[in-house]
Amino acid sequence: AKRAGGNGYTLFESRMDADAHAQLSLQAELRHAAERGELMLYYQPKIAGRGGQIHSVEALLRWRHPRRGLIGPAEFIPLAERFGFIAQVGQWVVEETCRQMHEWSAQGVHIRVAINLSAQQLRDADLAGKIGRAIRCYDIAPDRLLCEITESAAMEDVESTQRVFDGLARIGIFLSIDDFGTGFSSLGYLRRLPAKQLKIDRSFVQDLETSPDARAIVDAVVQLAHALGLKVVAEGVETEAQRAILVALGSDELQGYLFARPMPAMDLLDWMLDRTP
Ligand code: C2E
Ligand code: CA
Ligand code: CA
Ligand code: CA
Repeated sequence: AKRAGGNGYTLFESRMDADAHAQLSLQAELRHAAERGELMLYYQPKIAGRGGQIHSVEALLRWRHPRRGLIGPAEFIPLAERFGFIAQVGQWVVEETCRQMHEWSAQGVHIRVAINLSAQQLRDADLAGKIGRAIRCYDIAPDRLLCEITESAAMEDVESTQRVFDGLARIGIFLSIDDFGTGFSSLGYLRRLPAKQLKIDRSFVQDLETSPDARAIVDAVVQLAHALGLKVVAEGVETEAQRAILVALGSDELQGYLFARPMPAMDLLDWMLDRTP
């Protein structure tokens, strides 16, 4: 049994997940997905809270499976991590993002792009070196690339996180703490990381309209982030009411289906053209 997911790809139900055979064959196919040209990045805009301009987009990975159709990252990133080829997949994401940014630059589109890094990539002592070589190769200004790392991934191995963050900050790459509020990071630790941005997890945004607690948490997080010199992005904004509350609470940027779903690079250009008056 399968059903269409919110991003247009297929979600397999748990019976499928439990099927070791299916996992193994998927794993074997994923190993070659990058070289076969089956991986693809979709891009979702981040909108300025006040003004509504687009400062940046987030690159979200998709796998165009020859038989199963579009598969979302929640399904195959864990496989790539478990079977030891997340580094390859992650490197493909870095290269493809830089290639796309180079192409957009040539078309006069100078937009910032955020990529997602997994916990395992943070264990690679040369990660900053690899990203640095890619941006030089494609002539990308370092401050146009953002790296999003979830709070829980950042907390898995505090020392390597610090090392990678420092390495990336040294070459001028912006860092963002993703899914904030879902992990258990200490404020003292957060202060030591050279991050520029904090993304409030969708679970808080979802509850804003009904839960005074969610509202109090978002309010506190925005205040805290601003006090530490961090910009705030709220993810998963789906309703006008959520947007209004988030802007009132001071969220710097907003992202969610209310504005745009993740889309292929070509559609993004059309979408941006449609928005310019
Ligand atoms: P994330 O980084 O928290 O990304 C946000 C997810 O929420 C995306 O799901 C996005 O499509 C979805 N989303 C955006 N706006 C809305 C909304 O208004 N409502 C709802 N219901 N959902 C919304 P997606 O693309 O399936 O990605 C899932 C996760 O997979 C990401 O969560 C990220 O942690 C991971 N991921 C995606 N691309 C990569 C990648 O290149 N590398 C790694 N390591 N992880 C990735
Ligand atoms: Ca993210
Ligand atoms: Ca997120
Ligand atoms: Ca999230």
